[in-house]
Amino acid sequence: MLYAQVVLPLAQPMYSFSVDESLGVEVGDAVVVQFGSSRYYTGIVWGISSERPNFPRLKPILSKLYSRRLLSPATQRLWEWIADYYLCTLGEVMRLALPSLAKPSATSLSELDERSIEPPTEQFIALSDELRSEEALLAYHDKHVRRAPRRVKTIERIAALVAERKAEDGFVPRRLVDVDTQHLAALRTKGLICTEQRLRERLTSGDKQNFILPTLSSAQQQALEVIHKAHNEDKVALLHGVTGSGKTEIYIHLIAEHLALGHDVMVLVPEIVITSQLIERLERIFEGRTTTYHSRLTPLRRGREFLRLAASSGGELIVGVRSTIFLPMHNPGLIIVDEEHDPGYKQSDLQPRYNARDCAVVMSRIYGARVVLGSATPSLESYTNALTGKYGYAELKERWGKGVLPEIVVSDTLRALKRGERRTHFNLDLLCNIERSMASNEQVILFQNRRGYAPYIQCRTCGYSPRCPHCNVTLTQHKASSRLECHYCGYTMERTEVCPNCQTRDMKAMGFGTEKVEEEIARLFPEARIERLDGDTSSSESAFKRIVHSFEQHESDILVGTQIISKGFDFEGVSTVGVLNADNLLSAPDFRATERAFQLLMQVAGRAGRHNDRGRVVIQTSQPQHPVIRYVASGDYHAMARTELAERRAFGYPPYSHIIRFTLRHSDYELLRRAAHVLSSHLRARFAQRVMGPVSAALEMLRGEHRAEILLKIESGASLKLARAHIRQVFDEMRNDKSVKMVTITTDVDAL
Ligand code: ADP
Ligand code: ZN
Repeated sequence: MLYAQVVLPLAQPMYSFSVDESLGVEVGDAVVVQFGSSRYYTGIVWGISSERPNFPRLKPILSKLYSRRLLSPATQRLWEWIADYYLCTLGEVMRLALPSLAKPSATSLSELDERSIEPPTEQFIALSDELRSEEALLAYHDKHVRRAPRRVKTIERIAALVAERKAEDGFVPRRLVDVDTQHLAALRTKGLICTEQRLRERLTSGDKQNFILPTLSSAQQQALEVIHKAHNEDKVALLHGVTGSGKTEIYIHLIAEHLALGHDVMVLVPEIVITSQLIERLERIFEGRTTTYHSRLTPLRRGREFLRLAASSGGELIVGVRSTIFLPMHNPGLIIVDEEHDPGYKQSDLQPRYNARDCAVVMSRIYGARVVLGSATPSLESYTNALTGKYGYAELKERWGKGVLPEIVVSDTLRALKRGERRTHFNLDLLCNIERSMASNEQVILFQNRRGYAPYIQCRTCGYSPRCPHCNVTLTQHKASSRLECHYCGYTMERTEVCPNCQTRDMKAMGFGTEKVEEEIARLFPEARIERLDGDTSSSESAFKRIVHSFEQHESDILVGTQIISKGFDFEGVSTVGVLNADNLLSAPDFRATERAFQLLMQVAGRAGRHNDRGRVVIQTSQPQHPVIRYVASGDYHAMARTELAERRAFGYPPYSHIIRFTLRHSDYELLRRAAHVLSSHLRARFAQRVMGPVSAALEMLRGEHRAEILLKIESGASLKLARAHIRQVFDEMRNDKSVKMVTITTDVDAL
C-alpha cells in the first residue's frame, strides 16, 4: 500500500489518503477522493510515499482522472511559491488554476472526454496539378505576368518553397506565403491552388525564417539586441517603448525565435477584449500555434485547452489574461508581459491575490524561461529594477516610421470658464480641435473616467444626495434607465424628483459621466456619428466588438469612453483625443495616484495620431500646474519617475517596501472594531511601528458590511519570508479567539 498527500480545492492544508498501487497514481495526477461522509472532491496528488501517515483511519483514493499528468514538478513549485508568498493554501491556488478540470464535489468521473481533444493543425497549400511542371509554370508566367503580376508571384513563391523543402506531395505551410487570405481565396476559386488542414509542423531548426516577420527598424533591432543580452545573462528584460514604437514587432521576433526552437511561449495581456488587435496580428503570423485563454471561454473549452496543452510536446503560443500563467507548458521558453504596469495583472478580490507579472518573473527562475516586461509607462517597481541593473533595459523613444508623438495641449477649465470659453463640459480648445478633425474627416476619442450620466444627484435646497444603503457611496444616475445605481454592488432605485430629505422638488444631476458627454457632444455636433464604449455598452463581447469594429471602419466619428478605450487600440483615423476632466485622476487618495494618473493619461494620449500626421491631445483640468499634468505634457516618464521615487523613498512606500494589507469585514460594527484591535495588537507585538491602522477602508461599507484595514509595511532589505512566518503565527494564535473568529479577514500581499 502507498500513501498520498492530496491537495483539495479548499482553504485547508493537504490531506492523506491510501492508494491502491493498481490505480497507477503518480505525483501531479488528478484523483477523486471522498471527503466527509458523502462529499467527493477532485484532488491533486502532491506526494506519494510508502510510509503510513499517523492517522487512524485513512480513506482510499477512489480513482484517477485523466490519463495525462496535470501538473509538472515545475508547476508544483510555482503553486508552492504562490501559496507561500501570498499567504494562502495550495487548495486555494488549485481552485483558481484548475477551475474547469477539478470540480469540488465531483461525483462523476472525468467530465471531459480526452479523446475528443484533437491535435492542432495548420493550413498547407499546394499548386493545382496543372501547375506542377516547370513548363506549365513558365507558360503561366508568360501568359499572366502582365495582367496579374501578384498572382504569378504567389504561384512562383509556392513553387520555390516546394522545391526548397523537397515537398514530395507539393504541400507547403501557408505561413511561409506572405499574402492575405482574400488573395489566397481568389486563387483557390480560380482552381490554381488547393489547401488542406494538416497536423502542425514541428519546428526545431531554430530558424526564425520559419515565419514571415516584419523588418525591424534600427532602433527596434537595437532594443532586440539589448533584450537578447539580458536573456543571455539570465535577466528579465524591461522593454520601455512609447506608444506606437513597435513593441509588438519586437515581441514577434522573440516569439519566432523561441517557437523555432520548439519552446512554448506565453504572452500575457491585461484584458482580452482590449487586445483583440494584438491577438489578430499574432494569429496571422503564428497560425495554428496560438491558443487564447480568458474567463469568457466556456468551462468546457478551458478544460479542453488545458488538457491539450498538458499533452503537447512544445511549440505553443499561449495568449491570455493573468490566469494564463497556470496553463501547462511542456518546454517553457519565453514569457512576455505586455502593459506590465497594468493593475489588471493583480487579482484583488479573492485568494490567491497574486500578481501575474510578478509570478512571470518567478517562473523565469522556476522554469528557466526568458521574460520580457513591456510598457510605454513601466511600473516604478520594474523601472527601479532596471535602474539597479537587476533587469536589462531597452528603450524605444520614438514612434515607428514617420509617426510622431501627439501634441499635448493642457486646457485650463477655470480660466476658460472665466473668459466664457466653455460650453457645458467642453473648453473651446477642445471644441476647435474636434471641429478641425470633423472637417477633415478624421476621428475623435473623448475620455471621461466615469460611466453613467451623473456620478450623483443633489438637492439644491438642502444638499442631500441619495446613497447606497449597502455601500454608503453616492448613487450614479443612468439616463437610459432613469434610475440611480450603486457602482459597487449594483443596487438601484428610481430617480426621484422630490428630495427625500426636505421634500423640495429640486434634485439636480451633479458632475458628469460618459452618457452625459455623449449627449452633449451630440448636441454640439449633430451631424457626427457617435458611439460610446464603457462598462454599460460593452457588457457582452459581441457588443464590444461591434463598437470597436465600427470605429475601426470609420463608420462612427466620435468615440466616447472610460479607460477601456485607453489601452492597446490602434485606430488609424484618430487625430484628436480629449480628456474631459483630469482632476479626478489627480486627487485619488492613494500613494500610487501620481503614477496611475500619468500612466492613464499617457495611454489615452497614445491613441492620437498613430498614423496620420500629428495627433492632438487636449487635457482639460483645473490644475494645469499640477506636476503630473506637466510630466504628461512633456511626455517625460523619467522625470515623473525620479520625483515620484524620491517621494516613495522618503515615505517608505513601494518599491522601497512591500505592503501587506489586511481587510476585515463584518456587518456588526462593534465586533469589527474589536477584531481589528486584536489583530493590530498582535501584529504590533511583532512588527512594532511597521503596522498602520486599523483605519476604515477606502470604502467604509460594502455590500452591507463594514470594513476596516490594517497595513503592514515591510521595508526592502528586511526579510519578507520572516514577516510571512510571523503573520502565520499571528493567525495561529488568534485561531481560538472568539472575538476574531466571526470576522472575515483577508490578506493581500503587495496590495495595489
Ligand atoms: P506599440 O505596441 O509599441 O504601441 P505597435 O507595435 O502597435 O506599437 O506599432 C505601431 C504601429 O507601427 C503598428 O501599426 C505597426 O504595424 C507599425 N510598425 C511598428 N514597427 C514596424 C515594423 N518594424 N515594420 C512594420 N510596421 C511596423
Ligand atoms: Zn451598493
